[in-house]
Amino acid sequence: MLPLPAFTDNYIWMLHDGHQAIVVDPGDSAPVLQTLKDLQLTLQAILVTHHHADHVGGVDALRDATGATVYGPAREHIPEPLVRLTQGDVVQVLGLRFETIDVPGHTAGHIAYYCPEMDGAPLLFCGDTLFSGGCGRLFEGTPAQMLDSLDQLAALPANTRVCCTHEYTLSNLKFARAVEPGNSALLHYSSQCEALRAQNLPTLPSQMALEQEINPFLRVRQTAVAQAAQGYDARVHQDDAVAVLAALRQWKNEFR
Ligand code: ZN
Ligand code: FE
Repeated sequence: MLPLPAFTDNYIWMLHDGHQAIVVDPGDSAPVLQTLKDLQLTLQAILVTHHHADHVGGVDALRDATGATVYGPAREHIPEPLVRLTQGDVVQVLGLRFETIDVPGHTAGHIAYYCPEMDGAPLLFCGDTLFSGGCGRLFEGTPAQMLDSLDQLAALPANTRVCCTHEYTLSNLKFARAVEPGNSALLHYSSQCEALRAQNLPTLPSQMALEQEINPFLRVRQTAVAQAAQGYDARVHQDDAVAVLAALRQWKNEFR
């Protein structure tokens, strides 16, 4: 499982078995082609989570160069030909089973790929829906949709490895500490991630159990998080999880 860095802060996730490979959200073909060459791998499939250019920019070049099959969200405009997926559809590649989960919010048709078992633990490719310590911006969806999407992901097994597409962890954790300054798991994780980034290492994949403890967007029903959201916007009722999420997202957009 390799996170190939692309652009300034994207990761293109690659899985391979020594012969065949798949990639997720190749915004750029160059790092993928280089790695295929270096490791002498054949590209079997390309999985796409949503239509943004930093996730699909390399799809055409990779398909042309390798003949790989492209899978993506049924309801978004992705370069054709494409196998169109919605909730519950299954992709079998590299001997692995990937289940499609509809996660609208960042974009209207965003999907995630959940593999129940690879090397002893589940695996999730969640695109720009869930980040370590944060969530994607609401470009096309509503706070209610995003909450529903995050709830679906949070219901996955605790040991699910979470493969996000951006290295946003440190800035997300800075915001998370503003929301929950008393969260000791968050403070501990922040120092771990700072040490990784100081060595230019990825903070990802994360784990679902950890995200449950440190990610404010998965913690909108926690009293401390709801109180902080109300402190930001006094109109928020603490038991209204959608309003708490909407306030957190707005606060994060302005946060520096
Ligand atoms: Zn995006
Ligand atoms: Fe992105």
